[in-house]
Amino acid sequence: MSHMDGPGIVIVGAGPAGIGAADVLVRAGLRPVLIDEGRRPGGQGYRKSDPTLGLSLGYARAANYKRIHAVFTALETQIDYRPETLVWSVDGRAAYLAERGAVVDAGLSYDRLILATGATDKIAPVPGWTLTGVYTLGGAQVILKDQGCSIGRKVVFYGSSPLLYLAAAQYIEAGAGKVTILDTTPFARKAAASLKIARAPSVLCNGVALLAGLKARGVTIVSGVSGLRIDGEDGRVAGVSFQAGRRPMRLDCDAVAIGHGLRAETQLAELAGAELAYDATFDQWLPRTDADGRAADGLYLAGDGARIGGAAAAELAGRVAAMACLADLGRSIDKAELIRLRTRRDAYHASQEGLAQAFAWPRHAFADLPDETVLCRCENVTAGAVRAVARSLEGVSDINRVKALTRCGMGRCQARMCGLAAVEVAAAARQEAAEALTYYRPQPPVKPIFIPEPALSEV
Ligand SMILES: Cc1cc2nc3c(=O)[nH]c(=O)nc-3n(C[C@H](O)[C@H](O)[C@H](O)COP(=O)(O)OP(=O)(O)OC[C@H]3O[C@@H](n4cnc5c(N)ncnc54)[C@H](O)[C@@H]3O)c2cc1C
Repeated sequence: MSHMDGPGIVIVGAGPAGIGAADVLVRAGLRPVLIDEGRRPGGQGYRKSDPTLGLSLGYARAANYKRIHAVFTALETQIDYRPETLVWSVDGRAAYLAERGAVVDAGLSYDRLILATGATDKIAPVPGWTLTGVYTLGGAQVILKDQGCSIGRKVVFYGSSPLLYLAAAQYIEAGAGKVTILDTTPFARKAAASLKIARAPSVLCNGVALLAGLKARGVTIVSGVSGLRIDGEDGRVAGVSFQAGRRPMRLDCDAVAIGHGLRAETQLAELAGAELAYDATFDQWLPRTDADGRAADGLYLAGDGARIGGAAAAELAGRVAAMACLADLGRSIDKAELIRLRTRRDAYHASQEGLAQAFAWPRHAFADLPDETVLCRCENVTAGAVRAVARSLEGVSDINRVKALTRCGMGRCQARMCGLAAVEVAAAARQEAAEALTYYRPQPPVKPIFIPEPALSEV
């Protein structure tokens, strides 16, 4: 590997957290390896569009977007940057890679590992979510940012997340057709959380400006939505039916984007030795770290993969984790700078806790999800099947038993899409809290990899 003469430091994830970490290490005279499965740097939020398309999307003109990309450009020749490279497992201080789809035989050894793997959508399934024309909210954003395409002409953004509003604004700005926001959280809850959100004043100001902009453009926003069902015709989305308060409503649309916030990508962290614990603020299992992102010997976590915090917090957390790494390597660090970075990061984290309070995970809805609703799309397992097995396993607190008996979460996505929903459905069926269950164990490969045919026939 090409760490040159310094210690071998591998960073996974070229989003704000990974770029922030790389910047600190380069300034300390090191040449880290920066790996990302994406084609271009920037991560999820600061995704760069395909340069051959010449797109001019508004979000790419934002100051922080431009700054992160400028930091990366200044670094690029001083790091070993490996795009289109998936880390599919970590074991014994080696990362296992697939480069442009091809599995690399030997592991990439490292002395220190900084995981900045980010997050993906957190989804509460609804009847009809397997119809053609239904996307995750993040998927809808990726299509827009990467390719400049809209998922439909009449798009409903459904769920509860600040990203619903952001994505809707990005769609409108890009000239997509009609956009409607159906938010499961009542507006009063957002107002109640506003003081906490204001711990990072820019987050509150941006949110208020976003809302005002959407209203000025005439976007319909319905809060406190419940019981949503996606209706189809010939297997495609044709509309949505829901309750707004007590009022039944129906809306024609040809695409739905669903998102209930973000779920940290924790599988590699756990494989590398991090311990997970249930976090009641973000309603998911998150890795335990110290204040600087240390999760195990030689393992550092930063960004949304460690704690949902947004892009600004991710960059700061990446810088903090890299400083911790340097300190552990016996390098001198600027302690006053470390404290400044931590303080700023913590303000964003506190603000994000306010957002999590304002945009609630619809826990109450899992008990009412019709039995026939598919939970696990990979293995076609319904809510009813998970409920029946969960009830039959009274006293068994491990969701992995439910997985073994139903195949829920056993498919290509390895529960990354359905895991949290499956736990909620199982817990509700037993009238328990989700945290009473243990979460899905990670299994390599953490994402699907291509195994060539000859290797298969040798097995
Ligand atoms: C789809 C999506 C769209 C978003 N859009 C916005 C937005 O428009 N505005 C906004 O403010 N926030 C947005 N967010 C939130 C924002 O992206 C995050 O808060 C921020 O990007 C977190 O930065 P990060 O560095 O922690 O992770 P990310 O930016 O998510 O970067 C993580 C990187 O790790 C890589 N990675 C993960 N696992 C592996 C692996 N096993 N092997 C190799 N590479 C791996 C990913 O490809 C990714 O590039 C979005 C989030 C998502 C999921």
